[in-house]
Amino acid sequence: MKIDKDKIMKEQREWMIKEHLIARGISDKKVLEVMGNLAREKFVPSKYMVDSYGDHPIPIGHSQTISQPYIVALMSELCEFKGDEKVMEIGCGSGYQAAILSALAGNVFSLERIKPLAENAALILEELGCSNVKVIHSDGFDGLPHEAPFDVILLTAAPESIPQTLIDQLADGGRLVAPEGNTVQQLVRIRKKSGKLNSETITYVSFVPMLKGAGS
Ligand code: SAH
Repeated sequence: MKIDKDKIMKEQREWMIKEHLIARGISDKKVLEVMGNLAREKFVPSKYMVDSYGDHPIPIGHSQTISQPYIVALMSELCEFKGDEKVMEIGCGSGYQAAILSALAGNVFSLERIKPLAENAALILEELGCSNVKVIHSDGFDGLPHEAPFDVILLTAAPESIPQTLIDQLADGGRLVAPEGNTVQQLVRIRKKSGKLNSETITYVSFVPMLKGAGS
């Protein structure tokens, strides 16, 4: 009997939405819809394909990982998208989060310091038709001053503390969502309103560290 891979992946995706996201409190309908339609297996190395919808990070090479679906959903929800935002993501990795941002926001700049990861993610995103995403091989510590300000800034690698350069590139009324810390990390959301910052801590998380410099 021929195995219908797409059917199995779809069933597993539906199970992920129900058991890992809705059951754990994700309620943003648009986030659930977008993640329910996006083939996560496209972003996962083929040897881990059967694991695509497990609620854990998966290695993507170069000592990096694609984040667990629950955390991706939580961070996407915390960004409070309306649909027209200009977004900067730091840590493109596999491109999975960038593809979700592509469907939730207006346009997306996704920065990645490891060149082969940036190139690979750009290819997958193009294949999926995410034409509003631009993958840039650069060091996220600098942000993208010539494209600033951003309505949403999302970090998927953890700095020891949120760089002031990035806060400066956040638009008034904007949200920055990021893991922060070294050995112990917390997910934070910073809002900028009338020039003032309001910071909330959400939960403990475990991300790869944000590292300085963009390699080849
Ligand atoms: N969002 C990714 C997961 C990212 S893992 C996904 O959906 O798959 C974190 C990524 O951040 C890694 O690929 C790592 O290389 C990258 N990174 C770490 N420090 C960085 C920096 N200073 N600038 C840009 N990218 C960085």
